[in-house]
Order: sequence, then C-alpha cells, then structure tokens
Amino acid sequence: MPETDLLPILLVPDTRLRTKCRAVGPQDADAVRALAPRMLATMYKAPGIGLAAPQVGDLLRLVVIDLQPDEKPDPMVLVNPEIVAASEELATREEGCLSLPGQYADVTRPAKVKLRWLDLEGGKREITADGLLATCIQHELDHLDGVLFVDHLSALKRNMMLRKLAKELKARARDA
Ligand code: ZN
Repeated sequence: MPETDLLPILLVPDTRLRTKCRAVGPQDADAVRALAPRMLATMYKAPGIGLAAPQVGDLLRLVVIDLQPDEKPDPMVLVNPEIVAASEELATREEGCLSLPGQYADVTRPAKVKLRWLDLEGGKREITADGLLATCIQHELDHLDGVLFVDHLSALKRNMMLRKLAKELKARARDA
C-alpha cells in the first residue's frame, strides 16, 4: 500500500477520541470498504496490533485488529462489534495506545469475552477470545465509546500519565 494511503493517527487530547461513534449502516458500505485497508496499513506501519476508526477521525463503529501471530498477517475487520458476554475471571495486562504514544500501564479487564460483529461482506461473525486478543478487543471497542485505557486507572495515575504525555508532545512539537 502506498504511503499516501496511510492515515494520520489522532492523539490525546483530540476530542474525537472522546466521542461515542455511530453504528455503520448500509449507506457506509463503500466508505468502510475503502477505509478498512487504509486503517490496517496505518496500524501495521505504526506499528500496532489494533486501531479503531475514531483514532483516524472517522466516528464509526469500525475496528481493525491483527496480533500478527508468528509475524504473519492475520487481519480482522470488525464492523459494529459488540461484546455480548464477559468472564467474571479478570486478567491484567500492560496496555499502550497509538493515540497516547509512549504511555503504558497495567489494566485489569475480563479475561475472556464473546464478540459478535459483521465482516466486510456483511456476514455475521462470533468468537470467544482470551489472552492478548481479549484485551485488544476490549481496548479497541472502548475507543468506539470514547473510552481510553487510562480511564481504567485511578484518577491519580491517569492524570499523571496525561500530564507526562502532554509534556512529551509539547517537547516533540518544539523539536520538530
Ligand atoms: Zn488505543
């Protein structure tokens, strides 16, 4: 994919990252089919393992994920994804986010989730995920509701991270 097809990734505190996204409808089919490969290319380039449409400024319920098992591409495109069940068992994993570059923290979430979504052909899909995929799904779906991983931390920790990020981005802008 040519570099020109890559999309700029929005950074905190862009208000689009705090917006609840709307469901993809039949009228969005062409836009979503064009957007999904560009989102995947942008995610691979970053590099990251997941990207939600609001992170590139499209306020639609669309997510791409690829954990790249064995470093081979295995892309998932999730249209209108929905978590329909979550385990009581919790798991803690370190998370980061392309919209909060350089920031990482341990986040506790359900260890297992059942996910339903539509694929690009409109087919109904369902999986039960655990491990890294379960974490990634929950992190990306949060984005569709304007929620960031730092929202799962204490206010003290969240504010510390956001202040640190703001400082780093300011320094980066100054040095650019
Ligand atoms: Zn993220």
